[in-house]
Amino acid sequence: MEFSIKQGSPEKLHSGCAVVGVFEGGKLSGAAQALDRASKHHLGGILARGDMSGKPASTLLLHNVPGIAAERVLLVGLGNPKEATDKSALEILRATFRALQATQTKDAALFCCGDLGRDAVWAAKQAVLVAAETAYRPDSQKSKPEKPGQLKSVALVTPDKPAAALKAALDQAAAIARGMGLTKTLGNLPPNICTPTYLAAQARALAKAHKTIETTVLEEKDMQKLGMGSLLSVTSGSAQPAKLITLEYGGGGKKQKPVVLVGKGITFDSGGISLKPGAEMDEMKYDMSGAGSVLGVLQAVAEMKLPLNVVGVIPACENLPSGTATKPGDIVTSMSGQTIEILNTDAEGRLILCDALTYAAKFDPDVVVDIATLTGACVIALGHVTSGLLSNRDDLAKELLAAGEQVYDRAWQLPLYEEYQPQLDSNFADMQNIGGRAGGTITSPPPASCRASPRITAGRTSTSPAPPGNPAKKKAQPGGPCRC
Ligand code: ZN
Ligand code: MN
Repeated sequence: MEFSIKQGSPEKLHSGCAVVGVFEGGKLSGAAQALDRASKHHLGGILARGDMSGKPASTLLLHNVPGIAAERVLLVGLGNPKEATDKSALEILRATFRALQATQTKDAALFCCGDLGRDAVWAAKQAVLVAAETAYRPDSQKSKPEKPGQLKSVALVTPDKPAAALKAALDQAAAIARGMGLTKTLGNLPPNICTPTYLAAQARALAKAHKTIETTVLEEKDMQKLGMGSLLSVTSGSAQPAKLITLEYGGGGKKQKPVVLVGKGITFDSGGISLKPGAEMDEMKYDMSGAGSVLGVLQAVAEMKLPLNVVGVIPACENLPSGTATKPGDIVTSMSGQTIEILNTDAEGRLILCDALTYAAKFDPDVVVDIATLTGACVIALGHVTSGLLSNRDDLAKELLAAGEQVYDRAWQLPLYEEYQPQLDSNFADMQNIGGRAGGTITSPPPASCRASPRITAGRTSTSPAPPGNPAKKKAQPGGPCRC
């Protein structure tokens, strides 16, 4: 979908559909008033019949409005602008694009972005993101995918000459929307297609499409040489080869320390020998959403040509039971040289991420952001509304929380106090991989070796409702409902 900024009067601008707002109580916005005058009060007559009250996110599509250039008019309820919030503005935009995509119009002119009671740049960015979100269909595997909507181009019409900031916001939002699309598509693909090898191919494709990205893929034998015993213990039950994927984007100077993004890439999490219950196990294909996010971000960063160095590190494998699978009670040695007693094979995310984080140190990062569906306990704590965020650097945590508020994709910080550490004490190894039900998310980030490094762990809430827990060893209480 193409986005542009236009100037023009509502009644004269040619388009398939002019979108204008109506405030609470049926009060017409400025652009709607212009259409009303040009059409000899056609709009006023419709409002008088009571079909559009201006209730937020209500819509009414009008055909054959006389005296205007647009083929259709979409009236959108804006509510009371004094009570507008980010949430209500987004609901209005969603209703707008759903209504547009239900028509056969190929293009639309939005006159309502300035009436949302929000900053113009924010509204423009969100319009692009919402347009992509409402057009997205997870049907790539249907033999006859649903026909994509007809809407191909959207103009945001502003009364004033558009500022450069607004144009830049549109381009950035379009790149972000395409990155989010890639992330969603990877997440929705079935686990027999979206394997670790498939993720590696995606990373290579990004390098092919963008000269600024270089992709490296380590195989299991390379990981063995590096001593990644923790990561390899998770893949040992699977026939699919594990991959450690690295994408390096060089948009900054040679001396600039990179931002390293680490993404959990479990392409299917059965729980392993600590098998999950069968209900909703299909959703465990989403356990690679951290990896999908890293790929989406790298693509967006390259498209935006950000003047930064950004590295993506993706440990990718399956977690399956078999005769060669890791057993509860096994002790493995991580790349950092520490031994880990695996009490529950379903707590595997931390086992792959700890080796990926140790590996990430070789890039001498400025910051590390770790993105993972880690853990079901996070959903129990925060529900499906917000992501959990854990960090050993408060300044960075504040920046990420603020960024989340800015784009209305919010996170909530959980503590990482030292007092939680003893929950991971093991009788037989340097640590164990589960810390009990209490504070199950807080004890899930890869511990100890990584604590000293400059990093932040953003634990995305799992997409699935948490199934009941597997009984773990008595001395270690079960580590929350779903360990991931
Ligand atoms: Zn998992
Ligand atoms: Mn798991």
